[in-house]
Amino acid sequence: MPSSTSTGLDNQLDELIDQLSQLPTFSIGRRADNAITVSDGKVSGQHARLIQCTPTTFVLEDLSSKNGTFVNGVRITRKVVDKQDSIQLAGTTFTIAQLLDMKQVAPSTPATPAFTKEFSKEPPAHQTSLDFTSQFAELQRVFEQYPKLRKNCRNREKMIRTGSVILSSVIGISTALSSSNGSATPVLQLMSSAGLSMLVPTLCSTLLSTEEKLEVIDKEYREQYRCPNPSCRDPFSGREWEVLALQKTCRRCQAIWVN
Ligand SMILES: [Zn+2]
Repeated sequence: MPSSTSTGLDNQLDELIDQLSQLPTFSIGRRADNAITVSDGKVSGQHARLIQCTPTTFVLEDLSSKNGTFVNGVRITRKVVDKQDSIQLAGTTFTIAQLLDMKQVAPSTPATPAFTKEFSKEPPAHQTSLDFTSQFAELQRVFEQYPKLRKNCRNREKMIRTGSVILSSVIGISTALSSSNGSATPVLQLMSSAGLSMLVPTLCSTLLSTEEKLEVIDKEYREQYRCPNPSCRDPFSGREWEVLALQKTCRRCQAIWVN
Protein backbone atom coordinates (compact mmCIF):
# COMPACT_ATOMS: atom_id res chain seq x y z
CA MET A 1 0.00 0.00 0.00
CA PRO A 2 1.73 3.15 -1.19
CA SER A 3 1.88 6.14 1.10
CA SER A 4 3.99 9.28 1.17
CA THR A 5 6.23 7.80 3.89
CA SER A 6 6.95 4.61 2.02
CA THR A 7 7.78 6.63 -1.11
CA GLY A 8 10.55 8.40 0.78
CA LEU A 9 11.90 5.09 1.98
CA ASP A 10 11.59 3.64 -1.51
CA ASN A 11 13.77 6.45 -2.85
CA GLN A 12 16.39 5.69 -0.24
CA LEU A 13 16.22 2.05 -1.23
CA ASP A 14 16.69 3.00 -4.89
CA GLU A 15 19.79 4.98 -3.95
CA LEU A 16 21.09 2.09 -1.92
CA ILE A 17 20.73 -0.30 -4.86
CA ASP A 18 22.36 2.23 -7.16
CA GLN A 19 25.30 2.39 -4.77
CA LEU A 20 25.50 -1.40 -4.54
CA SER A 21 25.61 -1.71 -8.31
CA GLN A 22 29.23 -0.50 -8.32
CA LEU A 23 30.66 -3.98 -8.59
CA PRO A 24 34.09 -4.83 -7.19
CA THR A 25 36.65 -4.91 -10.00
CA PHE A 26 40.18 -6.31 -9.82
CA SER A 27 42.91 -5.44 -12.30
CA ILE A 28 45.34 -8.25 -13.13
CA GLY A 29 48.83 -7.89 -14.58
CA ARG A 30 52.59 -8.04 -14.11
CA ARG A 31 52.87 -4.50 -12.78
CA ALA A 32 52.84 -4.06 -9.03
CA ASP A 33 50.02 -1.52 -9.13
CA ASN A 34 47.47 -4.15 -10.13
CA ALA A 35 45.02 -5.52 -7.60
CA ILE A 36 46.30 -8.98 -8.56
CA THR A 37 49.96 -9.14 -9.55
CA VAL A 38 51.17 -12.08 -11.62
CA SER A 39 54.95 -12.38 -11.83
CA ASP A 40 55.27 -14.00 -15.22
CA GLY A 41 57.37 -12.26 -17.89
CA LYS A 42 54.82 -13.16 -20.55
CA VAL A 43 51.95 -11.53 -18.71
CA SER A 44 51.35 -7.92 -19.79
CA GLY A 45 51.81 -5.03 -17.35
CA GLN A 46 48.07 -4.56 -17.41
CA HIS A 47 46.68 -7.83 -18.66
CA ALA A 48 43.05 -8.38 -17.68
CA ARG A 49 40.40 -7.52 -15.15
CA LEU A 50 37.83 -9.40 -13.11
CA ILE A 51 34.43 -7.93 -12.32
CA GLN A 52 32.70 -9.67 -9.43
CA CYS A 53 29.02 -10.37 -10.18
CA THR A 54 28.13 -12.75 -7.34
CA PRO A 55 30.23 -14.43 -4.66
CA THR A 56 31.17 -17.07 -7.23
CA THR A 57 30.58 -15.55 -10.67
CA PHE A 58 32.82 -13.05 -12.43
CA VAL A 59 33.29 -11.38 -15.80
CA LEU A 60 36.85 -11.78 -17.03
CA GLU A 61 38.00 -9.22 -19.58
CA ASP A 62 41.26 -9.19 -21.51
CA LEU A 63 42.79 -5.70 -21.67
CA SER A 64 44.43 -6.09 -25.10
CA SER A 65 47.19 -8.18 -23.57
CA LYS A 66 50.07 -9.29 -25.77
CA ASN A 67 49.90 -13.02 -25.06
CA GLY A 68 46.21 -13.35 -24.46
CA THR A 69 43.71 -14.51 -21.88
CA PHE A 70 42.21 -17.98 -22.23
CA VAL A 71 39.28 -19.69 -20.52
CA ASN A 72 39.32 -23.49 -20.68
CA GLY A 73 41.83 -23.26 -23.52
CA VAL A 74 39.88 -20.78 -25.66
CA ARG A 75 41.15 -17.24 -26.16
CA ILE A 76 38.63 -14.66 -24.96
CA THR A 77 38.18 -10.91 -24.93
CA ARG A 78 35.42 -11.00 -22.35
CA LYS A 79 33.59 -13.89 -20.70
CA VAL A 80 31.44 -14.83 -17.71
CA VAL A 81 33.49 -17.25 -15.58
CA ASP A 82 33.10 -19.14 -12.32
CA LYS A 83 35.09 -21.32 -9.97
CA GLN A 84 35.01 -24.31 -12.32
CA ASP A 85 36.78 -22.48 -15.12
CA SER A 86 40.46 -22.69 -15.82
CA ILE A 87 41.96 -19.30 -16.59
CA GLN A 88 45.19 -18.92 -18.48
CA LEU A 89 47.08 -15.63 -18.57
CA ALA A 90 49.84 -15.89 -21.18
CA GLY A 91 51.56 -19.11 -20.04
CA THR A 92 50.22 -19.55 -16.52
CA THR A 93 46.97 -21.27 -15.53
CA PHE A 94 44.86 -20.35 -12.52
CA THR A 95 41.45 -20.92 -11.02
CA ILE A 96 39.45 -17.88 -9.90
CA ALA A 97 40.09 -18.85 -6.28
CA GLN A 98 43.85 -18.87 -6.87
CA LEU A 99 43.74 -15.46 -8.54
CA LEU A 100 41.71 -13.99 -5.68
CA ASP A 101 44.17 -15.40 -3.16
CA MET A 102 46.86 -13.33 -4.87
CA LYS A 103 44.89 -10.15 -4.25
CA GLN A 104 46.90 -7.33 -2.74
CA VAL A 105 45.58 -5.98 0.51
CA ALA A 106 45.63 -2.37 -0.61
CA PRO A 107 44.33 -0.04 2.07
CA SER A 108 43.88 2.67 -0.57
CA THR A 109 41.21 0.60 -2.34
CA PRO A 110 37.92 1.59 -0.76
CA ALA A 111 35.88 -1.03 -2.55
CA THR A 112 36.67 -4.04 -0.45
CA PRO A 113 34.80 -6.80 -2.20
CA ALA A 114 31.17 -6.20 -1.49
CA PHE A 115 30.70 -9.93 -1.39
CA THR A 116 32.58 -11.11 1.63
CA LYS A 117 31.43 -14.66 1.37
CA GLU A 118 33.58 -15.55 -1.65
CA PHE A 119 33.50 -19.29 -1.96
CA SER A 120 32.88 -19.63 1.73
CA LYS A 121 29.23 -20.54 1.60
CA GLU A 122 29.11 -22.13 5.00
CA PRO A 123 28.38 -25.83 4.77
CA PRO A 124 24.75 -26.60 5.47
CA ALA A 125 24.10 -27.50 9.06
CA HIS A 126 24.34 -31.21 9.62
CA GLN A 127 20.96 -32.62 8.83
CA THR A 128 19.96 -35.98 10.14
CA SER A 129 16.40 -36.11 8.84
CA LEU A 130 15.10 -35.87 5.32
CA ASP A 131 12.88 -32.94 6.28
CA PHE A 132 13.73 -30.16 3.82
CA THR A 133 10.35 -28.44 3.94
CA SER A 134 11.56 -24.99 4.95
CA GLN A 135 14.39 -24.97 2.39
CA PHE A 136 11.99 -26.19 -0.29
CA ALA A 137 9.48 -23.46 0.57
CA GLU A 138 12.18 -20.83 -0.04
CA LEU A 139 12.64 -22.10 -3.58
CA GLN A 140 9.20 -20.81 -4.53
CA ARG A 141 10.67 -17.32 -4.43
CA VAL A 142 13.59 -18.36 -6.63
CA PHE A 143 11.22 -19.85 -9.20
CA GLU A 144 9.03 -16.74 -9.23
CA GLN A 145 11.90 -14.25 -9.28
CA TYR A 146 13.64 -15.87 -12.23
CA PRO A 147 11.38 -14.71 -15.12
CA LYS A 148 10.92 -11.27 -13.53
CA LEU A 149 14.64 -10.67 -13.28
CA ARG A 150 15.22 -11.92 -16.84
CA LYS A 151 12.57 -9.55 -18.11
CA ASN A 152 13.56 -6.49 -16.12
CA CYS A 153 17.35 -6.69 -16.35
CA ARG A 154 17.20 -4.97 -19.76
CA ASN A 155 15.95 -1.80 -18.15
CA ARG A 156 18.09 -0.38 -15.36
CA GLU A 157 15.42 1.94 -13.92
CA LYS A 158 12.92 -0.88 -13.86
CA MET A 159 15.49 -3.20 -12.33
CA ILE A 160 16.16 -0.77 -9.52
CA ARG A 161 12.39 -0.56 -8.88
CA THR A 162 12.07 -4.36 -8.96
CA GLY A 163 15.07 -4.57 -6.69
CA SER A 164 13.63 -2.29 -4.08
CA VAL A 165 10.32 -4.15 -4.15
CA ILE A 166 12.11 -7.49 -3.66
CA LEU A 167 14.41 -6.03 -1.05
CA SER A 168 11.61 -4.48 0.96
CA SER A 169 9.43 -7.58 0.77
CA VAL A 170 12.23 -10.00 1.60
CA ILE A 171 14.15 -8.23 4.31
CA GLY A 172 12.08 -5.12 5.00
CA ILE A 173 12.86 -1.53 4.05
CA SER A 174 13.94 -0.43 7.50
CA THR A 175 16.24 -3.43 7.96
CA ALA A 176 17.83 -2.80 4.58
CA LEU A 177 18.38 0.88 5.25
CA SER A 178 19.48 0.62 8.86
CA SER A 179 21.85 -2.26 8.20
CA SER A 180 23.46 -0.52 5.23
CA ASN A 181 25.05 2.01 7.55
CA GLY A 182 27.40 3.40 4.93
CA SER A 183 28.59 -0.01 3.84
CA ALA A 184 27.17 -2.37 1.26
CA THR A 185 28.35 -5.56 2.90
CA PRO A 186 25.60 -6.16 5.47
CA VAL A 187 22.85 -5.64 2.90
CA LEU A 188 24.48 -8.02 0.48
CA GLN A 189 24.83 -10.60 3.21
CA LEU A 190 21.12 -10.27 3.95
CA MET A 191 20.35 -10.48 0.28
CA SER A 192 22.47 -13.55 -0.26
CA SER A 193 19.94 -15.47 1.81
CA ALA A 194 17.10 -14.06 -0.26
CA GLY A 195 17.06 -16.21 -3.37
CA LEU A 196 17.86 -14.58 -6.66
CA SER A 197 17.44 -11.09 -5.21
CA MET A 198 21.13 -11.28 -4.31
CA LEU A 199 21.64 -10.53 -8.02
CA VAL A 200 19.83 -7.20 -8.01
CA PRO A 201 22.91 -4.96 -7.63
CA THR A 202 24.68 -6.93 -10.35
CA LEU A 203 21.68 -6.56 -12.64
CA CYS A 204 21.68 -2.80 -12.06
CA SER A 205 25.37 -2.51 -12.87
CA THR A 206 26.43 -0.56 -15.93
CA LEU A 207 29.58 -2.70 -16.17
CA LEU A 208 27.74 -5.67 -17.65
CA SER A 209 25.94 -6.16 -20.95
CA THR A 210 22.38 -7.49 -21.04
CA GLU A 211 23.65 -10.81 -22.40
CA GLU A 212 26.07 -11.10 -19.49
CA LYS A 213 23.31 -10.28 -17.02
CA LEU A 214 21.08 -12.98 -18.50
CA GLU A 215 23.95 -15.45 -18.24
CA VAL A 216 24.52 -14.55 -14.58
CA ILE A 217 20.77 -14.97 -13.81
CA ASP A 218 20.73 -18.38 -15.50
CA LYS A 219 23.84 -19.53 -13.68
CA GLU A 220 22.51 -18.52 -10.29
CA TYR A 221 19.06 -19.97 -11.00
CA ARG A 222 20.58 -23.32 -12.00
CA GLU A 223 22.71 -23.23 -8.87
CA GLN A 224 19.82 -22.46 -6.49
CA TYR A 225 16.79 -24.17 -8.03
CA ARG A 226 17.60 -27.75 -7.04
CA CYS A 227 16.60 -30.37 -4.52
CA PRO A 228 17.63 -28.73 -1.23
CA ASN A 229 19.18 -31.95 0.11
CA PRO A 230 22.96 -31.26 -0.08
CA SER A 231 23.67 -34.88 -0.88
CA CYS A 232 21.21 -34.84 -3.81
CA ARG A 233 21.05 -31.40 -5.46
CA ASP A 234 18.98 -32.74 -8.34
CA PRO A 235 18.42 -29.78 -10.70
CA PHE A 236 14.77 -28.73 -11.09
CA SER A 237 15.49 -26.70 -14.26
CA GLY A 238 12.20 -25.54 -15.77
CA ARG A 239 9.86 -27.60 -13.59
CA GLU A 240 7.25 -25.41 -11.90
CA TRP A 241 7.56 -25.06 -8.15
CA GLU A 242 3.82 -25.73 -7.68
CA VAL A 243 4.09 -29.03 -9.56
CA LEU A 244 7.07 -30.08 -7.45
CA ALA A 245 5.16 -29.09 -4.31
CA LEU A 246 2.34 -31.45 -5.31
CA GLN A 247 4.90 -34.21 -5.73
CA LYS A 248 5.90 -33.60 -2.07
CA THR A 249 9.10 -35.66 -2.02
CA CYS A 250 12.24 -36.04 -4.10
CA ARG A 251 12.06 -39.21 -6.16
CA ARG A 252 15.81 -39.40 -6.23
CA CYS A 253 16.78 -38.93 -2.57
CA GLN A 254 13.39 -39.20 -0.82
CA ALA A 255 13.83 -35.77 0.76
CA ILE A 256 10.55 -34.42 2.10
CA TRP A 257 9.69 -31.12 0.39
CA VAL A 258 6.13 -30.73 1.59
CA ASN A 259 4.55 -32.41 4.60
ZN1 LIG B 1 16.71 -34.97 -3.84
